[in-house]
Amino acid sequence: MLADEYGAFLFDLDGVVFVGDEPVTGAVETLRRLRDAGKEIQFVTNNSQHTRRAFAEKLTGFGIDARPEQITSAASATAEYLADRGVESVHLVGMDGFRTELGRRGIDDSERDADAVVVGFDPTVTYDDIETATRLVYERDLPLVATSGDTSYPSGDGVAPGTGAILRAIEAASGTEATVVGKPNAPLFDLALDRVSTRPVVMVGDTPGADVEGARRAGIDSILVSLHCRADRADAVDPDVRIETPIDLVDAD
Ligand SMILES: [Mg+2]
Repeated sequence: MLADEYGAFLFDLDGVVFVGDEPVTGAVETLRRLRDAGKEIQFVTNNSQHTRRAFAEKLTGFGIDARPEQITSAASATAEYLADRGVESVHLVGMDGFRTELGRRGIDDSERDADAVVVGFDPTVTYDDIETATRLVYERDLPLVATSGDTSYPSGDGVAPGTGAILRAIEAASGTEATVVGKPNAPLFDLALDRVSTRPVVMVGDTPGADVEGARRAGIDSILVSLHCRADRADAVDPDVRIETPIDLVDAD
């Protein structure tokens, strides 16, 4: 089977393991069979809505064995990135799960004391939120840091605007380009690769610009899962392997 070529698997979540509140066809069985075969699994997501604990609980609810330390999320990676640079306070455009991850690294959410403007996913974002963030970046010259540049993602009922769509509004209004911690950039991959000890490692994802491009930059193979990936986008990059659903990893050739 295809999976025999690798010792560790970095699994994207949205579009590969679940879409909305439903597991992707074959994902639960695939992960069980990979674990039975002794493979190391780390979940790597640009999704910044939830804490790692909440992701682990969601996966466990599908019947997938998962603990918070098996999840590398863009929210937790961004909190680590900021803490490593001595940031103690930020203005957050994002959700409570992200705020919790920041708090775990000793970082407050305070507009007055902010050392940076941080952007994650937030489906409740308003014009006022974008205006406040823009002014802090433009007028106070604060750095702009984001979990992800993904402009869309597959929700349960179709394509939906992602963190990158919110970020681009702030970038455009402030005339400032953000530092993006999540895929395809190095900080998230570096953290995830530190957490697996077996080599070779492969990234399994559905977003060419994040998962396939990120794997290429990190020097590891990539497998593109095309089920929830639009064909035109899938054709724009060159993964090492293309499969339709996760089960193709463990099915006999
Ligand atoms: Mg995805």
